[in-house]
Amino acid sequence: MEHKLLNIIGVCAVIISISLAVFVSKEKKMSTGINLEDMDTTIIAGDDFYDYATKGWRDTHPMPKDYSRFGTFEVLVEENNKRVRKIAESDNGKIGTLYKIAMDEKKLNADGITPVKKYIEQIDAIKSKDELPTFLGQIHSFSGGFFSDAVSLDEKDSEHYLYNIGQGGIGLSRDYYFDNDAKSKQVREKYIEYMTKQMENFGIPVDAKKLYALEERMAKSFYKKEKLRDPIANYHKMTTAQLRAEIPNFDWDKYFAARGISPNFVNVNQIEPVTESIKIIKDTDLELLKTYLKWRLIDSADSFLDDTTYDIAFDFGKVLTGQDEKKPRWKRAVAMIDGSLGEEIGHLYTKKYFPETAKKRMQDLVKNLQSALGMRIKNLEWMSNDTKKQALEKLNTFHAKIGYPDVWRDYSKLEIKNDSLYDNMIRVAKFEDRFWLDKIEKEKDPNIWFMNAHEVNAYYDPSTNEICFPAGILQYPFFDMDADDAFNYGAIGAVIGHEMTHGYDDQGRQFDKDGNMRDWWTKADAKSFTERANVMRDFFNNIIVAPGTHANGEFTLGENLADYGGVTVAYTAYMNFGTRSDDADGFTDVQRFFIAYANNWAGNIRDDALLQQTKTNEHSLARWRVNGILPHIDAWYDAFGVTDKNKMYIAPESRVKIW
Ligand SMILES: [Zn+2]
Repeated sequence: MEHKLLNIIGVCAVIISISLAVFVSKEKKMSTGINLEDMDTTIIAGDDFYDYATKGWRDTHPMPKDYSRFGTFEVLVEENNKRVRKIAESDNGKIGTLYKIAMDEKKLNADGITPVKKYIEQIDAIKSKDELPTFLGQIHSFSGGFFSDAVSLDEKDSEHYLYNIGQGGIGLSRDYYFDNDAKSKQVREKYIEYMTKQMENFGIPVDAKKLYALEERMAKSFYKKEKLRDPIANYHKMTTAQLRAEIPNFDWDKYFAARGISPNFVNVNQIEPVTESIKIIKDTDLELLKTYLKWRLIDSADSFLDDTTYDIAFDFGKVLTGQDEKKPRWKRAVAMIDGSLGEEIGHLYTKKYFPETAKKRMQDLVKNLQSALGMRIKNLEWMSNDTKKQALEKLNTFHAKIGYPDVWRDYSKLEIKNDSLYDNMIRVAKFEDRFWLDKIEKEKDPNIWFMNAHEVNAYYDPSTNEICFPAGILQYPFFDMDADDAFNYGAIGAVIGHEMTHGYDDQGRQFDKDGNMRDWWTKADAKSFTERANVMRDFFNNIIVAPGTHANGEFTLGENLADYGGVTVAYTAYMNFGTRSDDADGFTDVQRFFIAYANNWAGNIRDDALLQQTKTNEHSLARWRVNGILPHIDAWYDAFGVTDKNKMYIAPESRVKIW
């Protein structure tokens, strides 16, 4: 079946590439985008493609002391940081003011923990548990405790926003409280030490073991990370009257009033954990509850205060990531302004650094990837015509956001002033919180972006069925205006395909073209999909990422499917719509396509960060985004002459076959 498909594509490719070739020949000659020094061609491609394509890069980019993971993404982040710093240093408005405040080491250290004291005093003043709903309603705009809330598009009515309540209020990722590997045990011990030290720093007496036990009890009821990926298991929309009945013993009306909202509906994402938290409030001594609330407040404040406080938190973070040194103050200040005034910075950034020509080339790439995925869907032998029809409808309604938003956020109501960094961050958090709370049960705002324009990342949103590629990622080595199509289809093309495939991964396929959670698959097709996806799951479960540690095939399934789909669709798009080029730098154009893909993931990672990523991140490790994906792509075998003599070889019948 695979061959039949390639034949059909082969015919199209010739016709289209002739017409494009005429057009391109009038333009300047394109480079290959490949740097031989980034590779290590002494390694056999079919034995370890990641090392073959990226070892040179990794050898020449040693880990900086203030990073725990350093790859192509982080190189661009470094570059962007410098640009944002320049923007901030020459800005006389809110960006410049906030940056200066974040850089004022003397004042930060002179203020010490004082800015947080007023909130600690508020907690001290709580006399009875009856005051908690109002207090939580007031503090939840900037600090955690017992549960969390958020506003998002209703997954079953994607034209409207819905208020959500869910599990929240613990300091570690859930699994660290219970896993029995050596690292998790160490993290638990160090977390208790961190609690003790930091609370002491604030002059708050604490029995850290008791405080930890309270968080542990909460964590026990939390949904595991694998279950959090199941959209149906996390959707429980009810009226507020139902909420009062389902989760009693908490005055929700007082909570909502303090929150400044009056929702008609609530989606309780995780009912059992929220219920358990309310039970914990009922069963636990008020003094311990108050200590817990102080701890949540302090744990969320420690980046915005003095050096002593930051250093205590950093020492604990080190246990998780292995990062040697804290980031210099200016980089932390850049991160703070990015998180506060991101769209205003993005606006200035794109005016200066993002060429409109890049947007045009991206639009063409997206269009071609879309057509290629359509061709592949039409040719699937395992999918029925009914499901195909709906899959294609969904594909045709994909909306792409490229570069920067059409409408920028208005920050005029956000006040930045020289009281303290912490007070500014509270105002930022409240401003952001109000922006979302004001949307409850209102109509969808199509102009919202979930990333800053200068962010080095991309996303797919199932509720809006849209893919988004900020200007930040439209730079070398992901995208290169001067490089040929082989390079750009392999690099950014695979990223575009990745985001598109999310619309059909194990989560995304549960949403229809309008962004509503609805099962549009025939039973047989859904079963077929799951069986095929399970091949990927099992393949990753067998990957050993560190001695004694396996990859988590279930948790990373969506991302691995998107990587696999991304390369597959980008390859088809290149064959059909790209301009084929001659051998260059010792490689065929198809080889360069795969080298460019691998180069997306060039990077080094510390051992601690590797374990942390495996436990907490849905994305597979960079090495396995290459070596775990390419063995499932037939064209990769052909391009590099990979046979059963090579270490990465897997038999055709064991390969994932979905798209
Ligand atoms: Zn993804």
